Amino acid sequence: MKPTHIEHIGIAVENLEEAIKYWENVMGLKLEKIEEVADQKVNTAFFRIGEVKIELLSPTAPDSPVAGFIEKRGAGIHHIAFAVENTDEALTEAENKGLRLIDKKSRKGAENLNIGFVHPKSTLGVLTEFCCK
Ligand code: ZN
Repeated sequence: MKPTHIEHIGIAVENLEEAIKYWENVMGLKLEKIEEVADQKVNTAFFRIGEVKIELLSPTAPDSPVAGFIEKRGAGIHHIAFAVENTDEALTEAENKGLRLIDKKSRKGAENLNIGFVHPKSTLGVLTEFCCK
């Protein structure tokens, strides 16, 4: 599963417009795009820093997983996404190494990437996403 680089860092935010202002005006980064991911009930906004992206996530419904995260832990770093050659192979390898998968198979995420999540209980507390094009 050896990741090639960090593809993005996912950050849960309560208010997307306010968060975008912070990343634009305080951090001085350029908003690349806003995209709704209906499957995960979130709106996303992307900023790029070199090879790494910042993915802001704001819930679009009370039963969104990100809404649950914010309720339990507050806004902040939600997940780290690692670029891999093949998401399905990385998930299988993770499972074979004893990790608990959230996604048994890859699915389509923001930017049409093939994504899959591994449960933070088995990754030392870091919600881990594998993704590939
Ligand atoms: Zn992500």
